[in-house]
Formats: sequence, structure tokens, C-alpha cells
Amino acid sequence: MSSGAPRGQGQVVRLSRGASLSDFADKINANPGSLVQEMFNLGEMVTATQSCSDETLLLLGEHLGFDVQIVSPEDEDRELLAQFNIDLDAEVDAERLVSRPPVVTVMGHVDHGKTKLLDAIRKANVVAGEAGGITQHIGAYQVRVPHDGEDRAITFIDTPGHEAFTAMRARGAQVTDIVILVVAADDGVMPQTIEALNHAKAADVPIVVAVNKVDKPEANPDKVRQQLTEYGLVAEEYGGDTMFVNVAAKPGIGIEDLLEAVLLTADASLELTAPIDGPAQGVAIEAHLDKGRGAVATVLVQKGTLRAGDSIVAGGAHGRVRAMLDENGKPLSEAGPARPVMVLGLTAVPGAGDTFLAAEDDRTVRQIAEQRQARRRAASFANSRGRATLETLMEQLKEGEKTSLNLVLKGDVSGSVEALEDALFKLDIPEEVQLRIIHRGVGAITESDVMLASASSEAVTIIGFNVRASNKVREMADREGVEIRYYTVIYQALEEIDAALKGLLKPEYEEVELGTAEIRDVFRSSKIGNIAGCIVRSGVIRRNAKARLLRDGTVVADNLTISSLKRFKDDATEVRDGFECGLTVSNYNNIQVGDVIETFEMREKPRA
Ligand code: GDP
Repeated sequence: MSSGAPRGQGQVVRLSRGASLSDFADKINANPGSLVQEMFNLGEMVTATQSCSDETLLLLGEHLGFDVQIVSPEDEDRELLAQFNIDLDAEVDAERLVSRPPVVTVMGHVDHGKTKLLDAIRKANVVAGEAGGITQHIGAYQVRVPHDGEDRAITFIDTPGHEAFTAMRARGAQVTDIVILVVAADDGVMPQTIEALNHAKAADVPIVVAVNKVDKPEANPDKVRQQLTEYGLVAEEYGGDTMFVNVAAKPGIGIEDLLEAVLLTADASLELTAPIDGPAQGVAIEAHLDKGRGAVATVLVQKGTLRAGDSIVAGGAHGRVRAMLDENGKPLSEAGPARPVMVLGLTAVPGAGDTFLAAEDDRTVRQIAEQRQARRRAASFANSRGRATLETLMEQLKEGEKTSLNLVLKGDVSGSVEALEDALFKLDIPEEVQLRIIHRGVGAITESDVMLASASSEAVTIIGFNVRASNKVREMADREGVEIRYYTVIYQALEEIDAALKGLLKPEYEEVELGTAEIRDVFRSSKIGNIAGCIVRSGVIRRNAKARLLRDGTVVADNLTISSLKRFKDDATEVRDGFECGLTVSNYNNIQVGDVIETFEMREKPRA
């Protein structure tokens, strides 16, 4: 059997998520073809270079006797950094921690005033004397507010809307501490209001509601409060724990109250601390290539302090901080936790959401950047996959693991989305399964939907009802392994989801009686215990079958197994009714003449 793959004896094989059979073969010194053959024998057609799911790699590993460990990209990066003695998650001594400003993202429906609000907040902060300073958009800014006799800072991510928010979250960067949800009081809760709310909830970020445009005569701020209670946001004045603040961004009314509410919410529900010493770490918020200045990136420092002259690496870009500027274009020599700064000096443009860190020297950051680039190139060859889809869910179900089906519903008109959702919840959903609609909305399937789905730790299926995703969004979904299903008829959608839900169920077993035998004689053996001489009265007695013992019609012992079975002197696998046999049962020795042994097996019950 020279063509067979080598067998392991439990050796650990570490494989990157999405590795191919070739990669696997490399690690165990095998011919990739032999692994293709092994997979084929296991009933799966996989080519040598195709990226495999975790399950496939684990299955093959088990089959060959290797202990396969799948390494996620995050873990890989951690390991890469560990080579340079960098540990991003290292516990920080409590005495090194200082409190830091909250980082806020403004979200809400289009035209409800997000941009105006961000402008108003910035303007409210232009300290006398600095007026005339050019405030530029660098992707984030910080304001200072007097609060309880203290001078407090708040950092705002200056990209309204949830695209930036989810893009970062999808890459594992949790930047936002608090979300300001802007709702125009003359318009009320709208689809993107709900979308934004769902994004914030999914990220477990507290929300402060800015009820905007209260200067308008038709404004109805109380209606907004009332509408949002339906979505679990209950205003403090109604006994809830969400702060609602009436504002008018355009004339600049209520801005101070809003900032106050942000600080109160932060203090009440978050403990915002970070070390201020040590090398800086954080996230790139925004970056672009500037004709004159080269790569320009706005980074948010999350830990430590960044200084001009530091060597930094952000994603696959590295360099030395040539200059740091704040949102007013003012040069800074250092930036501590929650401070956004524009950094000049990177050799390439990092992506929004890439993490950055400062390290000892140029060489370290260059090597980290180069290894990351090499890994990205390698990863982009392998097609991404791995998340469960409606189809694989059904399979997983058979294995009895999955218990929740998560959906994002998008439809052409809000009526159709509601109708679909209503109908879904009217389905006869088995108790053990949870159906969760994590987001619903009107309009085409967007990048934001895909990001919400891919940022979720569990599989999420996007349902498009009379709507489609653009090619770009579709590609992104493929890349992220998010399943999109399209329907034009409600009952068809219901039928398939119903099937998936049924499939989702853990299998139910029922007991099926195999046969009974009556004990006619008991032989005592010091070696194997008491042997029952029986006659099979019904069905069949099988070796290894589950059994119970009945005496005068009552069960005297349960959870037994037929551990040996003989016809005369020979071992038998089964003995049919009417025949005599000798048998022993495990776990029970006190058998008596006249006892009846009942055997049964557990069979999977098909669902209705
Ligand atoms: P965004 O799409 O959420 O960023 O909304 P914008 O900030 O662009 O605002 C949309 C429109 O609403 C603009 O015409 C603003 O001038 C107007 N607007 C924003 N805030 C207010 C406000 O407080 N009062 C009034 N009357 N109009 C506002």
C-alpha cells in the first residue's frame, strides 16, 4: 500500500483555516494525491488545491490518526506577533490603567441629521481663540466637555452611518463604546434606524438616542420615544434605561445635553480604562494615498502612547511616524488612549479596521508587515468558506449540534418583509430550535447586511424577497462565506425555512423492541459471572443489544447490555425466537430462573 497516505499516531498538525489537501500533505510529508484518494474513500470529492472546511480537515485528520488543529487568522496573527514577543491581549496591571474617553459612533436613517450633528458637536467645541483653525475631516475627532467639574473628552468617529461601524467589527476591531442613534422627530423611526439599532445591539454597545430636528413645527419627539420602545429602547422617563435627548443639530440646540448623556451612559454602563504607558496599539480608522504626503492614515490609539518617530505597523503597512496631526491640523508629539490622530510616514495604505501597533524598531515592524502581506496573498488564493449555510445546517442538524437559525430578511416593500416575518413566526417551530431574525429591512441586499451576517459568531442566512444583491455584494458574500437566498413567493421561502428548522432539530430517538428471552437455567462461572441459559421467546436476541430484566412483569434491572451470546459452544451474533442460547448481561449478576430479558435498540425517529 505504498500509495496510501501516512498514518499518524496522534501527532498534532496545525493547519490554517481554509487550508487545502496540498497544505495538509505538506505538513505530513504525503503526496497530495493520496489525500485526495483518502477523502474520496471517505465519500467526499475534494481537489488537492481546493480550500477545505474545518470539518473536512478534522475528519481527514481523525481518519489518518493526526490531531488536526485549525488555526484562525486571528490566532495566526497572534502567533506571528508572539515571535516578536508582542502580546496584544496581555493582562495589564491595574495600576497602569487610567480612565480614557469614550469612543462614539453616530448612526441613523439617511437625512435624519447625522452629518449635521457631527458638525454641530465639532463646532460647539471650537474653543475661543482657536476659531479660524481649519477643522478638517480626518475620520475622527475629539471634543472636550466640562462635566461634574471635570474636563472630560469624548472621541467621535466622523463617518456617519453603520458601514464603517460594521466594516470594522467584521474585521474583529471593536472601536465604538457608545452609539448615538439619530432619529428625526419629524420623520420618526425608519428602516435604517432599525438597521443601526440592530447593529449596535449585535455589537452589545449601549445606545444614546438623539431625537433631532425638534426645532421643526411638525416635530413629535414623544412619538420617537414611543416607537423605539417597541424595539427594546425604553427612555429613562418611561422607566427604561436608555437616555433620549432632544436636539436640533442645525441650529445647534441640545448639543451639550447630548454630550452629557453620552458621559453619563459611559459612566453608568462601561468601565473605560487603558494603559497610557507602553507602546501604542489601536485601529486604523481611515486611510488614503495623498499625492504630496504619501500614505495618510487616521489611527485611533487604544492602548499606550503613540509618539512621533515611533516605528509602527498597521495591517500590511509599516513605517516610522514622520508627523502626527490632530483634527485641527495641529502637530502633536504624542497621542494616548482614545486619541485619533492622522499619521504620516507609512509605506502603504492600511485598510479601515486594520489594527496597528508600535514596536521597538524598524526591522520588527517591517518583518511583521511583510509576513502579513505574504499571508494575505496566500489566503486570497484559497477561497473563503466555512460558515454554515441553510443546506449545511440541515446536515449539522443531523449531527445534533445546531439549535438556532439566524436570518437577515430583506424585501422590496416593508409590507412584504413584515408578512414574511409574521409567517415565519407562525411556523410550527419546534421548542428546541430558535429562529432569530437579527435584522430586517427594505431594499437591496447591501454590503452592510453581509457584514452584519459575517460579523456574527453564528451562521446567518440572508433572505432576499423580491430583492437582489449587486455583483459586488454577492462577491463579498462569497468571500465571507455568507449564504444569500432569493425568493419571490412567500410560501416557497416558508417551505424551505420550515425544512431547515426541522432539520435543525436534534434527532429524536425511540425505543424499538428487538426480542425477549426467558431464563430457563442459571450457570455459575467464577470467571465470567452468571450465565443465563435461555430460550428466545420473541424476535431476536443480539449481542451488544441494550437490555432490561423483568421479573414477574416488573423491571428489576435496566441499562444492561447483552455482553456475550452463545449457541451451544459457539459465539453467536444473534439468536432467533424458538432457539436456545446462553448469554451474559453486563452490570447485573442476580439473574434467576423465570426472569425475562427484553432487548431493544434506539432508533432515530423521522420528524413529521
Ligand atoms: P444625514 O444624512 O443623516 O447625515 O443628514 P444630514 O446631516 O445631511 O441632514 C439632512 C437634512 O436635514 C439637511 O438638509 C439638514 O440641514 C437637515 N437638518 C439636520 N438637522 C436638522 C435640525 O436639527 N433641524 C432642521 N430643521 N433641519 C435639520
